[in-house]
Amino acid sequence: MFSNKQNLIILSIIPVIISIPFLEFLAFNLNIINERTDFRINTLTVQRISSLYLFFFIIFLISLFFFIKKIKNNFFDGVIYLSFLYWIFFKYNDFKKIFNTKPLTFLSDHDGILSLILSIILIILFTKIIFKKKSNFLNILITFFFVMNFIYLASIIIFKIDFQVKSNIQNFEFEKINIEGSKRKNIYLFIVDAMPPVEIADKILNTDSNKFLNELNSKGFTYIKNSKSLYGNTFFTLGSIFNLKPLEKINDELGNDFDNLKYPKLTFPTVLRKKNVSNLEFNLSQMGYDIKWIGSHFANCYGYNSTYCIDSISNSNILINYENLSFLKKTSFQPIMRYILKIFKIDIEEKIIFKSNNAIGNFEKFLKKNGKPVKPTFVLIHHLISHWPYLVDSNCNYEKNDGKLNKIGIKKAFECNKKLILNIADTIEKLDNDAIVLIQSDHNWELSNERSDIYGDRKEIFNIIKTNRFCEEYKYIARQNFNAIRLALYCATNTKPIFNN
Ligand SMILES: [Zn+2]
Repeated sequence: MFSNKQNLIILSIIPVIISIPFLEFLAFNLNIINERTDFRINTLTVQRISSLYLFFFIIFLISLFFFIKKIKNNFFDGVIYLSFLYWIFFKYNDFKKIFNTKPLTFLSDHDGILSLILSIILIILFTKIIFKKKSNFLNILITFFFVMNFIYLASIIIFKIDFQVKSNIQNFEFEKINIEGSKRKNIYLFIVDAMPPVEIADKILNTDSNKFLNELNSKGFTYIKNSKSLYGNTFFTLGSIFNLKPLEKINDELGNDFDNLKYPKLTFPTVLRKKNVSNLEFNLSQMGYDIKWIGSHFANCYGYNSTYCIDSISNSNILINYENLSFLKKTSFQPIMRYILKIFKIDIEEKIIFKSNNAIGNFEKFLKKNGKPVKPTFVLIHHLISHWPYLVDSNCNYEKNDGKLNKIGIKKAFECNKKLILNIADTIEKLDNDAIVLIQSDHNWELSNERSDIYGDRKEIFNIIKTNRFCEEYKYIARQNFNAIRLALYCATNTKPIFNN
């Protein structure tokens, strides 16, 4: 029937077919920069979904072995039949989209189950055809379809990925901050994502933050009213902080669009990659600081720059993690599992997000366990509890509150954050009282996107600073977020600040 050589060729299509849903996933998510998507492709993503690839590959080979033994069909038929099943398995999400198109919107409430039914019908039809056919023509046609699919997806990815590994160090003009002092105190920069200014939050949520502010004050932390960020999104705000000034534009007349940035890679989180050195990283390195980063499922050191990782904080589950769960959304496996687990009140994905969101808590655990860093260290702590999805009660226990604009969820996250901030302030006061600390949001809450006249401007931010006697009188300068980090560099080194307007 088939020679060994032909079998070998057929066998070699299997890894190609297995890779197709993976390539689709990568092609779709690559280079997406959007405040509303919370998924990005990075080294960690690739690492983690590789383990899934291997998993599916092994499952495929085992199934093939049993299939051929049982059905006694030829080898080529077996490979094609299983490939089709595999391919359909990953079409769940795409089929769902059919029932969300304009003429079929009346079916959209049941899109999941309809997608499953459609998959089953296609499988029955295909089973009937493949076991009746007489020639290999259909097999060859389907193989051709898969190979074309593979080439198409691979070319999209190759086209999208920027293979330039050139560092910006050679062509970038760094701004060197003039530091005269020889002291090097630790600097902790907390980005409390989407945390509203307390005066706005108190008015809207009917909360009282006076006790919170007074207690902070007694520990040397000052709340800076009327603080501002330059941008309304995480990527640009953190980019400007690391740049120590506004992001440079190509055309000054035009707006703050990603395409109009002179150095788009100096936005967050790509700015933290090794080859994209920002002004802040440049100055910190010159001053002999270590740089560390505690992130979340959304962007973290494992995906962007492992030299910034603190080893003791890691999630090492290779199969159940945020990246793999996102990938499995393409299949019916995830919704079915989710449904079953929901009956037992278990929500794996949200539990993972919930745990990683609490970067302040993770940092506090680290400080308590290890004490203050011995070498002068700058730590970026990116905390997401006040960013949707809202997953805490006011005591920071897991509790899901649906909806981006859900004020109950927002209020609970706000109260939880205040507790976490008081705790970390307390720990820092005890363990590293010399540290310079900034606790600021990158932009205002989600509500400000709806009605800025009621809920405040998107660029109004929550802002707390702990300086020292050396730069106390310059605290007002921290009102502009990228100046706060400049001030921190002066404070931390006992250097008299220089600010020219
Ligand atoms: Zn943000």
